[in-house]
Amino acid sequence: MNGLVKGGLALGGLVFGLGALRRALNPTPRYASWEKPPYSEFEKKVLVVGGGFGGYTVATDLCKMTRHRDDVGVLVIARENFFTFWPMVPGIVSSDIDARNVAQPLRRALILAGASFRRATVTGIDAERKVAKAEGGLEFPYDQLIISLGGQPNFFGIPGVEEHSMTMRGVEDAERVRNRIIERFEEVSLIRDDVPDSKLTFVVIGGGATGVEVASEIHSLVHENLAPDYPNIDPYRVRIYLIEALPNILPELDPALRRAARTRLVNERIEVLTNAMAEEITENCVKLKGGRQIPTENVIWTAGNRPNQTIHDLGLPYDERTGLKVDLTLRVEGYDDIWAVGDCAAVQDVHQEEGRIVPPTAQAAIQEGHVAARNVMKTLDGEDDLEEFEYKPLGQLVELGSDFAVNEVMGVRFSGAIAAIFWRLAYLVRLNSPQSKVRVAADWIVGIFLRPAVTQIRGSTKQ
Ligand SMILES: Cc1cc2nc3c(=O)[nH]c(=O)nc-3n(C[C@H](O)[C@H](O)[C@H](O)COP(=O)(O)OP(=O)(O)OC[C@H]3O[C@@H](n4cnc5c(N)ncnc54)[C@H](O)[C@@H]3O)c2cc1C
Repeated sequence: MNGLVKGGLALGGLVFGLGALRRALNPTPRYASWEKPPYSEFEKKVLVVGGGFGGYTVATDLCKMTRHRDDVGVLVIARENFFTFWPMVPGIVSSDIDARNVAQPLRRALILAGASFRRATVTGIDAERKVAKAEGGLEFPYDQLIISLGGQPNFFGIPGVEEHSMTMRGVEDAERVRNRIIERFEEVSLIRDDVPDSKLTFVVIGGGATGVEVASEIHSLVHENLAPDYPNIDPYRVRIYLIEALPNILPELDPALRRAARTRLVNERIEVLTNAMAEEITENCVKLKGGRQIPTENVIWTAGNRPNQTIHDLGLPYDERTGLKVDLTLRVEGYDDIWAVGDCAAVQDVHQEEGRIVPPTAQAAIQEGHVAARNVMKTLDGEDDLEEFEYKPLGQLVELGSDFAVNEVMGVRFSGAIAAIFWRLAYLVRLNSPQSKVRVAADWIVGIFLRPAVTQIRGSTKQ
């Protein structure tokens, strides 16, 4: 009898625990959908353009600050209805992480927070009428407007880059790179004669964090996941190059960490070429300054970033290279009601000399988002003691495969397997969606025991 009672209590506890977990993972929205007033009916309308690191931070902060007010409405418009968690994008290449978990549902997260969301591509602004214009003749009114349109690849006018290389500016790009590698393996497994070197040579251009991570992910895909499925292809025939124009890869990191990263890459037989400038890319080769040519039909471009092209069409002051001109309060120069954050804004780094702007990173976009949200609230409430933005870099984490990373966190430097675990935990916590957190953790745990599936589902790998 005693055992029966204990069993019943244990079962009851388990059911209660599972119910609490389910509620925690599926919180209720701030407004039930039928109670939520339309955005146009709020007395003070805040429009956020872009739902990435910067825009999402501004919107959710504003929702928290206005939780008990019914006069401020927040609307986010973005080209995609998902939030790309960029640090995990390279992991899609090796199938370490499922693409759907890196693309987190933006609409659901914003509605839970209390904002509204519309998927639309912004094309311009009418600052006099206070409306943002979007494709399809749509118009969205605002009292305060925050622009966070992100960046795009910079090809520096190098011939052939745009036509013959793949970029890493999104989940689809990472899937395209993965599919290209699988497609090459399928092609080569059908060739009976000599296989041209260019088929199995993969060249990553750009030795910053993204380039280093992508080169390592290609190595993992080839050696850990593809090699056992293609027994007629020697994985050591695959050549992976990492090309950097500067004297060092990961130039922003401490020299000891740079060396650790380079040693890891070299041990994985990734050929690291520094002081190597790509001059031209053709269908089947990369031409370097100085005359060297690398035969390849697979080039991945990670070497440059610039503000989103759309900022040219907004009629606001901007610099082609650095982005929308803002003052230290993040207000666009000359406008009281327009603000800009993230990769599309040229924000002065107050700890550097005049003209040095804050780097285009997620942590900068998030920090800017917090300050912009507070300043927008103050402006809506008629306060004029606006906060000035001061960038506080927290460090950098770079993962090279699932068991190695080089990290610099608030001045502490470490590398190796512990650093890789730290990388994973740090970014797992940062994922916004509880579902994505659980699914990514599950991907990683399952990946310890089982090789991920390496099927190519999408047909084309062409740009
Ligand atoms: C592969 C990769 C890996 C990275 N890894 C890291 C990292 O590990 N750590 C780090 O700190 N930084 C990293 N970064 C940089 C970081 O992702 C960016 O600095 C950060 O995302 C900038 O935030 P944002 O809000 O400005 O832009 P994004 O996060 O890119 O968001 C831009 C938003 O604008 C929307 N948008 C764009 N054009 C339009 C339009 N015309 N109309 C409507 N909406 C539009 C998009 O849909 C998106 O919602 C990485 C970048 C890349 C490319």
